[in-house]
Amino acid sequence: MGRGTSGSSAWLYCLDCKMIDYPQEDKSTMHGDCKIYRFGRASQYVPPIRLVLMKLDQDVEISQTELILFKLAIALHGDDPKDWLQPKERIAK
Ligand SMILES: [Zn+2]
Repeated sequence: MGRGTSGSSAWLYCLDCKMIDYPQEDKSTMHGDCKIYRFGRASQYVPPIRLVLMKLDQDVEISQTELILFKLAIALHGDDPKDWLQPKERIAK
């Protein structure tokens, strides 16, 4: 509740630890030397990533299956976050 602003996710993904994290004031504790990606709007990502981001934003519990799909999506699309975005022509409104 009350995390981030509406419509944009403040969640981070650590490309080195391969985990989602919430930005903390002092990142040196955990991801000091890590490469960090900051997620944008959930809606622009491929479905398994979008779903997890939306649930994080809404504070809804994420199932193991959803987490596995999230990790598979990243494994499938690679470590470059640009490739996690939905191709524009496939975005349904
Ligand atoms: Zn890390």
